[in-house]
Amino acid sequence: MRLVLATRNRGKLVELRRILDADPALPVVELCSATDVELPEVEEHGATFAENALLKARSATAATGLASLADDSGLVVDALQGDPGVRSARYAGAHGDDEANLRLVLERMRGVEDRRARFVCAAALVASDGREWVEEASVAGTLAHAPRGAGGFGYDPIFVPVGESRTTAEMPPAAKDAISHRGRAFRAIAAHLAQL
Ligand code: IMP
Repeated sequence: MRLVLATRNRGKLVELRRILDADPALPVVELCSATDVELPEVEEHGATFAENALLKARSATAATGLASLADDSGLVVDALQGDPGVRSARYAGAHGDDEANLRLVLERMRGVEDRRARFVCAAALVASDGREWVEEASVAGTLAHAPRGAGGFGYDPIFVPVGESRTTAEMPPAAKDAISHRGRAFRAIAAHLAQL
């Protein structure tokens, strides 16, 4: 079975491959992404992670005629009324400026006692006949007062999962994958592949 992962992010492709290979009960899938097939740019104007994931997967299926999978994720901070949320990648303005986004969150959280936050990921699967599935998962934690750790990306240096003392930037990749919002959402959506 061929499946398009609607992303330009190589890390996500590697992560999904790892998840599919780890479960012998899942169907054998040949994964392709923006480097193998032409995928249109999608404006992520949805109000929720699920809407944005669906927008990306629908667009990839429309362009290729193949079943497609996409995800959308971000950081949700209680004391910031859910911000940065769906705007996580562009919170400080420019898309993908991880350093500026993280600094803005720390600035807005200066002096704030309630530091609860969570990473959320929605994964969407769209079949070539139009059937759709969405799975959402999250990992709860708190925000550190200053960045720590050199691993990961985005807000990892300030996110400490519940039950951990390390930030996700200080955890080995496999340990983060095991509990992460994306790991969980990908594993849940992969369970629907047999229905394609
Ligand atoms: P997207 O899902 O590729 O649109 O990414 C959304 C944004 O959310 C990223 O640019 C990061 O800023 C943030 N984000 C999502 N998942 C993680 C994570 O696992 N660690 C750190 N930041 C994340």
